Amino acid sequence: MGDHPDSVTVSLPLDSEGFLRRECPTCEREFKWSHSPEGEGVPASDSGYFCPYCAVQSQPGSWFTKAQAEYITAAGAHEFLGPALEDMRRSFEGINRPDSMIKVSLKTSVPDTPEPLSEDDDMRQVEFECHPTEPVKVLDGWERNVHCLICGEPASGAAG
Ligand SMILES: [Zn+2]
Ligand SMILES: [Zn+2]
Repeated sequence: MGDHPDSVTVSLPLDSEGFLRRECPTCEREFKWSHSPEGEGVPASDSGYFCPYCAVQSQPGSWFTKAQAEYITAAGAHEFLGPALEDMRRSFEGINRPDSMIKVSLKTSVPDTPEPLSEDDDMRQVEFECHPTEPVKVLDGWERNVHCLICGEPASGAAG
């Protein structure tokens, strides 16, 4: 019996103010949202969060940046695939007895642990009157409306 983890915990870095980098699945622009501890923070509506740039809604699990998605895949492969491959290799070795007509060989290689991601203190913070506990950070060059993650309302005082 193998000792497989049921789930893999991968932690993503926050910037010094506790913001997590995100990427909109619709417009593919990066922003950051304020990362609240589990159960605190304002929950997303059934249709998910609003993109601060294009205001298109997506489910909470769909905002990973490409770097985060790669990191999670690599870390998950290391944690999860490693023990599974080792089990498989052992069971194949059991088949390869000298009198056996069956010869099976399996090369296994456990993926390396990926380099941890880092997070810079870039981008410009925007607060919302409608949801003051859910600020975002947007690209410095963004001069159009910035929409609230929770309700999609544009922040007041935005240029343009
Ligand atoms: Zn977007
Ligand atoms: Zn709001």
